[in-house]
Amino acid sequence: MDIYQDLRRMLGGSKVSRDPFILSLHTRDAAYLRGEADAVVYPETVEDVRRVVNYCYETGTPLYPQGGSSELTGSSIPQGGVVMSMIRMRRVLESSPGDGYIYVEPGIRLVEVNMELAGSGMFFPIDPASIKTATVGGAVSTGAGGLRGFKYGLMRDWVLGLDLVLPDEEASLLRLSYKTLKSREGYDLVRLIVGSEGTLAIVVGVVLRLAPLQGDLATIAALYDSLDRLVETVIRLRSSGLDLSILEFVDRNTVAKVRSYGRRAPEGDGDMLLVGLSGEAEKAMEIIRMGGGEIVAHADSMAEAEEMGIYEVRRGFYPVLIDEAVEKTGGDPVIYIEDVSVPPSRLPEALPRIVRLLEEEGISYGLAGHVGDGNIHPTMWASHEDMERLYRVGERIMDIALEYDGVVSSEHGIGIVKKRALMRSLRRRGPKALDIMRGIKRLFDPRNILNPGKVV
Ligand SMILES: Cc1cc2nc3c(=O)[nH]c(=O)nc-3n(C[C@H](O)[C@H](O)[C@H](O)COP(=O)(O)OP(=O)(O)OC[C@H]3O[C@@H](n4cnc5c(N)ncnc54)[C@H](O)[C@@H]3O)c2cc1C
Repeated sequence: MDIYQDLRRMLGGSKVSRDPFILSLHTRDAAYLRGEADAVVYPETVEDVRRVVNYCYETGTPLYPQGGSSELTGSSIPQGGVVMSMIRMRRVLESSPGDGYIYVEPGIRLVEVNMELAGSGMFFPIDPASIKTATVGGAVSTGAGGLRGFKYGLMRDWVLGLDLVLPDEEASLLRLSYKTLKSREGYDLVRLIVGSEGTLAIVVGVVLRLAPLQGDLATIAALYDSLDRLVETVIRLRSSGLDLSILEFVDRNTVAKVRSYGRRAPEGDGDMLLVGLSGEAEKAMEIIRMGGGEIVAHADSMAEAEEMGIYEVRRGFYPVLIDEAVEKTGGDPVIYIEDVSVPPSRLPEALPRIVRLLEEEGISYGLAGHVGDGNIHPTMWASHEDMERLYRVGERIMDIALEYDGVVSSEHGIGIVKKRALMRSLRRRGPKALDIMRGIKRLFDPRNILNPGKVV
């Protein structure tokens, strides 16, 4: 069997590649994990997708759906077989801002959705820091969140409907592309697919719910002499009745690193809190000052905040750690970005334990996250030889989160990296949970061809 030749005959040469350079682009992710593949296909239509699924089903060939490969847990990494890159399926099928939805193909980037909606008075509010790379299909499949998560939640809150190709005998097409703002048709299959990380079905169409365009956000950056005080302020802000959208933090070492790698950051030393809100900025500043924060930057609009470089600290956090990791490992790093959450009121207990652990391990790390949601991203790096150590520390961080009613993954998913921790967490929630999940996987994917080896 020659997978490459078979696929070429089926789809035509322009939609299939096994060029080593092209394959290298599709067999690594943003955490620098690597895999291998026999070929990559670029379907342009739903029928192309179905033909490839049919072929993989018949031949038992593993099939890996992929968007921008910006995930951070190894979920898009192939282990032999066929990568199905969705990036050529990127059309807007229907835009209906008046009805509150936009219907798109999965390969369109999140940033392009909002470009399409410009001037309509509506927008799509989920904005991971990877918005220029992440595709809609990838964001659906990871169940992504973003900077405005405090106000707008996660992808699962904004997907009205999906079209799916199933990895079964007929490569069945399920048209669950609901366009109504409400739908209650039996079990919620749409929400089951959101966050399923390409293990149950291939997403070929997405109906996204839209939000009224938000008025401009004021931004405040404040520095604290301790993380404890920063977290206390966050908890006060949460219950202040203010219309908050963004509540982010970056720890002091990372703020300093961002600056030393030539990116802009407000002046001063300390742990940084970033607050984005509509109206009543004075009240927010008062709460921040009362909590011991020193306000180091304030902008009345997002445009002004961008001009001042206030968000560069948060956006630059990950790229700067990568720059550092690449430099210090001679170009061969592994990045491990944790994604635990605890209820925000448990952060004062959980966060110091996580920091202590990282310090005791003497590991290179940065700390940032969506602190308003209780979601933190301790981000560590090492060379490939030291990879196991990173993962061991990650396991311990997840165990700390579980002790405080937390979860092992909040928005990045399970992929390969968090499988063991998922088992531990599910066992605590009742022995049947894992059985049910495995049963669902078997029902959707009887031959285990779709993104095998991930999640459960
Ligand atoms: C700098 C940086 C910042 C980030 N910030 C955030 C953040 O703030 N919040 C956040 O949640 N994430 C963040 N991420 C992680 C990542 O960008 C998101 O998870 C994103 O949603 C992945 O989209 P993608 O198109 O790159 O998907 P990929 O990485 O290609 O794939 C992700 C998963 O989805 C599956 N998949 C992709 N397309 C399909 C499809 N059409 N059908 C079925 N399965 C599919 C893949 O098999 C894989 O399991 C960040 C990453 C980086 C590098």
